[in-house]
Amino acid sequence: MEKQRRSTAAHKRLRHLDTTCLWHPFTQMQDYSCSEPLIIERGQGSFLYDIDGNAYIDGISSLWVTVHGHRKRQIDEAIISQVGKICHSTMLGIANIPAIELAEKLLRIAPKGLAKVFYSDSGSTAVEIALKIAFQYWQQKSPATKKKKKFVALTNAYHGDTVGSVSVGGIDLFHKVYRPLLFKTFRAESPYCYRCPYKKTHPSCKLHCLHSLEEILRRHHGEIAAFVIEPLVQGAAGMLVFPKGYVAGARALCSRYNVLFIADEVATGFGRTGAMFACEHENVRPDLMAIAKGITGGTLPLAATLATDEVYSAFLGDVQECKTFYHGHTYTGNPVACAAACANIDIFRKEKVLARLQPKIRQLRRRLEELKGLQHVGQVRQCGFMVGIELVADRKIKKPYPVHKRIGHRVILEARKNGVIIRPLGDVIVLMPPLAIRAQELDTLCDVVFAAIKTVTEQPSLPAVKKTCFAG
Ligand SMILES: *Cc1c(COP(=O)(O)O)cnc(C)c1O
Repeated sequence: MEKQRRSTAAHKRLRHLDTTCLWHPFTQMQDYSCSEPLIIERGQGSFLYDIDGNAYIDGISSLWVTVHGHRKRQIDEAIISQVGKICHSTMLGIANIPAIELAEKLLRIAPKGLAKVFYSDSGSTAVEIALKIAFQYWQQKSPATKKKKKFVALTNAYHGDTVGSVSVGGIDLFHKVYRPLLFKTFRAESPYCYRCPYKKTHPSCKLHCLHSLEEILRRHHGEIAAFVIEPLVQGAAGMLVFPKGYVAGARALCSRYNVLFIADEVATGFGRTGAMFACEHENVRPDLMAIAKGITGGTLPLAATLATDEVYSAFLGDVQECKTFYHGHTYTGNPVACAAACANIDIFRKEKVLARLQPKIRQLRRRLEELKGLQHVGQVRQCGFMVGIELVADRKIKKPYPVHKRIGHRVILEARKNGVIIRPLGDVIVLMPPLAIRAQELDTLCDVVFAAIKTVTEQPSLPAVKKTCFAG
């Protein structure tokens, strides 16, 4: 009893400090600080446990990172073993063992043609680095290519939160306020089929949207360094799954117009789409590739930018030529994170993770069929283990809900009451379970989330969102 009381006081203190000391990312703190925060204490497999001991299925892989489940033994052991040797030593002119070993492993699983690994520590920095490498590549390649300084990106794109990666981003809600800070980027139309900007349908459209990219490249290729794309799925935009052939078509256009192709595989990499990397689905070979999220199996922050030998070679020269890539974060190539990533990649092979994932992808597809008749489910999008369920006020005219109704937010709170943690993208409900989730857990996840969608969208009139969110 006493213990119980003490722990209740300790929890109260944690909740108080959380709302008074912390500033959470992508979170309206005015709203958050008057809610009862959910505080996670530990995880195991597909489950998260809060400080009160409640269990939740981790339906979004702790923001798209967890691969083999939490507390995966081999990864934990790799981390502990490396901690017993050294936690950090610099990569600036010096090497460390896990960073070397990981580079070899990454190149072995990466799309063909990628030959060099440059480390950093987040998806944003991996993209930022790809942009800077692409820019500098053309500066150093030949006097004739020095005008190639700009980038093309897609509408609805998300490439991270640093100023360079925001410059190529295309989500107004996140990016608009920073516009005066950003460099100008050419914008091609994203293949968002559900709301096709050309009012066409796939496949009879014959990928009409590629013309938008081609037009830009045809007219401006002399000033364009690179095209950057989230291959196959635009994640943060709401899991927009591309029509077949778009990525390969875009790659072909970049080759034709002598523009580098940057694949941002930060979300899609490490098995998310059912292949190790999304580019593989269309046999695409990027010139530069950014990876992060799943790289350590979801345990420690690490990222990498991979480059071809062609790109790399433009940076070679005598020191006084100043062709060096002058970029590097203090914790670049952190040995503990690299050791975790090595273990992550080994597990893919040893446990045949991708082969064992395929039936679960089919199971998820079958379950998602159940949603298609619902009145407020506009579109259900799936690419492997990436799912977006777009909720709309009116299905016939694809009319979104008014923002203040916070439909997506309500659905996740409802799911949370029933033991599932998810996070929406606006009114798109996201499912991104760990690749290792068990078939039965996957069913429970679907049961809870689908019921939450029904409960929230089928209420005749929606009450105002209560300020004490869920636990109060
Ligand atoms: C998450 C994400 C990023 C940014 O990664 P961070 O580690 O959050 O900086 C970049 N690109 C894509 C496609 C992402 O999904």
